[in-house]
Amino acid sequence: MLKLEAPDRPAPQINTDAHRIVHTRPILKVRGLTVIYNGEAALDDVTFSVQDGERIAIIGPNGAGKSTLMKTIMGLLQAQAGTIEVGGEGTYRLGYVPQHEGVDWGFPVSVRDVVMMGRTRHMRWYQWPSKAQQQAVDAALERVGMADFGERQIGELSGGQRRRVFIARALAQEARILLLDEPFSGVDTRAQASMMAVLESLQRDGMTIILSTHDLGLAFSQFEKVLALRKRVIAYGTPSDVYRQDVLAQLYGGQLAAWQDGKQVTLFVDDQHHHCADCPE
Ligand code: ADP
Ligand code: MG
Repeated sequence: MLKLEAPDRPAPQINTDAHRIVHTRPILKVRGLTVIYNGEAALDDVTFSVQDGERIAIIGPNGAGKSTLMKTIMGLLQAQAGTIEVGGEGTYRLGYVPQHEGVDWGFPVSVRDVVMMGRTRHMRWYQWPSKAQQQAVDAALERVGMADFGERQIGELSGGQRRRVFIARALAQEARILLLDEPFSGVDTRAQASMMAVLESLQRDGMTIILSTHDLGLAFSQFEKVLALRKRVIAYGTPSDVYRQDVLAQLYGGQLAAWQDGKQVTLFVDDQHHHCADCPE
């Protein structure tokens, strides 16, 4: 039961002390969302709301339901219960950068075509892309630093470049909320930094950003709010509210992957103490 409706939106409050606008207008409200695959709940009674212009990170172990949540918000999956409200004046479109593993990159399609797909709802089926449509595509590619790659096949690009093309597609469809599913997995630190710079500039222009990641440090340092998800919402709030030992213990079931001396190690977290399973003594 997906419900799309416009909630009442109060005017934004200006916090004069901080000289910035405080986000107080909900743009996305998810309530009691339950998604079941083959009799097993992947999401169980998930409730949270996102304010207009916020930057939210979703963290949680593999299988926590991060992708399921994004696909359900996008309307690609049907929920068994709950509501999703996308609000705002005018039409608030949702843009989506899917998890890399879920896309067939061998499909022969050019970068321009991928971005143009974002415009198709602005076109009649019999129309050839007009000058204005072409310009919208060019502007979107320019915005993500991919202007020189329009004629390339999507399969020829690096992982970071492909994600930027999908961000351009969201821009071409005039998205106001951008959902990115693990956009940094398999991407080097330079590509990650340039993608973060693109996201920051979009946020300055009012884009709401919801991004899933395994990078707890990035979620902590670069995001206003963190949603800790493991089938249910374990915690939701500012990074310092969420990064508590009890929350992380619940979230990762006592196990937390970490890096030490360039090597992945497993930390065991519980309420009393934590120790490292495979660290050198
Ligand atoms: P995450 O993105 O956090 O790794 P997912 O949303 O992909 O988690 O998966 C959540 C749960 O739903 C997992 O247990 C996964 O095995 C299951 N699941 C995901 N997609 C499907 C599917 N198409 N059919 C059946 N089960 C699925
Ligand atoms: Mg996933």
